Amino acid sequence: MAGEKVESLGTREMDPFAREVARKAKGFMAEEEGLRLYELAREGARLGPVLEVGSYCGKSSIFLGCGVREVGGRLVCLDHHRGSEENQQGQPWHDEELWDEKVHAMDSVGELRRNLRIAGLEGNTVLLVTTTEVAAPLWTAPLGMLFIDGGHTFRAAHGDYEAWSDRLLPGGILAIHDLFPDPDEGGQAPIEVYRRAVASGEFEELEPTLTLGALRRKK
Ligand code: MG
Repeated sequence: MAGEKVESLGTREMDPFAREVARKAKGFMAEEEGLRLYELAREGARLGPVLEVGSYCGKSSIFLGCGVREVGGRLVCLDHHRGSEENQQGQPWHDEELWDEKVHAMDSVGELRRNLRIAGLEGNTVLLVTTTEVAAPLWTAPLGMLFIDGGHTFRAAHGDYEAWSDRLLPGGILAIHDLFPDPDEGGQAPIEVYRRAVASGEFEELEPTLTLGALRRKK
């Protein structure tokens, strides 16, 4: 039902130190959205592993990881770490500090590992440094939560949805970042995928937070 609150919402607050690490991490996510991910991960991780597609430097991974840790679950961070289209040299979101001159490519995995370690999340996190295309055929564990925040081209966003959403357990959470109803404010691939999930009839909509959409697989 649209607007329904996540049942696990309570008075617990996220580890303030980790929250500060997340605040300082490079990345593109409002803290309010991150805290929502924390809540959703706490719910989803009770069912199975939480898969994040598109971890970059770990800002959102820390929010997810803290929720996962509280219930003794596992977070899986999937990212090829060579940057999305908009992170490449000459593009608007390029960060020179993440450029590896020796191989002439972006590399954000070191920054992710560093942030996970500082936040105390190494012990319950698995890094998959590859693409959805390579990882998905090998993956068999059903998921408690899927967070799609990888490439924002139509091909990449739909590809991530097609590869992973069927792995979600009944009751599992599907979260999608960067939903912009107004095309002038942002790319339309993520919201197209969100609408596709709604249209499938397999999910119930949960309350959105800024540009973060959330759904729950029907039981
Ligand atoms: Mg994003």
